[in-house]
Amino acid sequence: MARTVHGQPLTYLDNAATAQRPSSVLFAMHLFSVFTNANIHRGVHELSAEATRLYDGAREQVRGFLNAGSADEIIFTKGCTESLNLVASSYGSLVLRPGDEVVISEMEHHSNIVPWQMACDRAGAKIRAIPVTPAGELDLDAFRGMLSERTKVVSIVHVSNALGTVNPVREISAMARGVGATVVVDGAQAAPHLAIDVQDLGADFYAIAPHKMYGPMGIGALYGRRELLAAMPPYQGGGDMIRSVSLSHTEYAEPPARFEAGTPNVAGAVGLGAAIEYLGQVAEEPMRAIGVHERELLAEATERLEAIPGVTVIGKAREKAAVLSFVMDCAHPHDIGTILDSEGVAVRAGHHCCMPLMTKLGLAATARASFGIYNTSEDVDRLAQAVLKVREVFA
Ligand code: PMP
Repeated sequence: MARTVHGQPLTYLDNAATAQRPSSVLFAMHLFSVFTNANIHRGVHELSAEATRLYDGAREQVRGFLNAGSADEIIFTKGCTESLNLVASSYGSLVLRPGDEVVISEMEHHSNIVPWQMACDRAGAKIRAIPVTPAGELDLDAFRGMLSERTKVVSIVHVSNALGTVNPVREISAMARGVGATVVVDGAQAAPHLAIDVQDLGADFYAIAPHKMYGPMGIGALYGRRELLAAMPPYQGGGDMIRSVSLSHTEYAEPPARFEAGTPNVAGAVGLGAAIEYLGQVAEEPMRAIGVHERELLAEATERLEAIPGVTVIGKAREKAAVLSFVMDCAHPHDIGTILDSEGVAVRAGHHCCMPLMTKLGLAATARASFGIYNTSEDVDRLAQAVLKVREVFA
């Protein structure tokens, strides 16, 4: 729906925080809610059977989207944050022992730092972080030097939400595997922009954030390699995750049910399925076409902003996706965000839940424009005009 903010047409460039949903996603969720709403698995009636089919169907769609080997390797959660907490808590308790190490990186989102800190604190294990180069890339030589038989987990962001860097996950996985470490990938910012193949990437776990890929909030999906999931203890207890319960003992269900205690977000799963269908209809090779379109916008926006005196782009990695962070010598990022907002241009300003990265870069915050499939050159033009306005006001 076209709308205005502060009397201006809206240019929405905060897609890395959450993307807008197409009507097909909203309609699928609405249809479920008015026509099929019922709890899954437990009912003998038709509505429950239909709801269960839709839920299982969405799981199969996620499997296809990530090219997982089996739908049993897909767990529905409430979001990417919960997926990463599930892995850190459950897999962490299975493998981490005193003296072990978990390797993350300096560019991680807090959701791929804090859960590992909590897991390491419980186990007496240690976090190590791959340094970020001044260009905003991971220092793979330093990573190589960190790997040892103590490394049990390597947990890395695929695409940085603060810098846009696309990390070489395949190479990182191969290096981690060399010391027998398990590879966890935070794919929150990658899934909306890149074709993901968890088998080709060599990921043992891969977490996505459906609300950033044109789906609903309140649902998440986690891929986990079958053998690992089968060995892991439950993350939460309750209904639907059991095979049998007595007052003294519980036999757990097999994955994925083992990790889905309680009534799930069925409407959310249906919406995620519709979002995957929407992404698939964009072009013949949809994720490639989306990547090409967004890289064009990113290149154009980078050129336009760098031509404005006093603007510095933060994050100059060779491989970037859809995210343009910047600072200005004349204005704090929050002031940039406020002026842009008054011009109808929605961007984010802050530390982007990456405080360690901001500390490393010596910045308190950046302004961040992030692109989605519906953005156009006109949006880039409005962004550049609004940044010029910031200069007029503050310089
Ligand atoms: N990782 C990255 C890289 C992110 O950008 C985000 C969302 N900002 C998350 C994890 C967490 O996702 P969610 O808030 O949807 O759980």
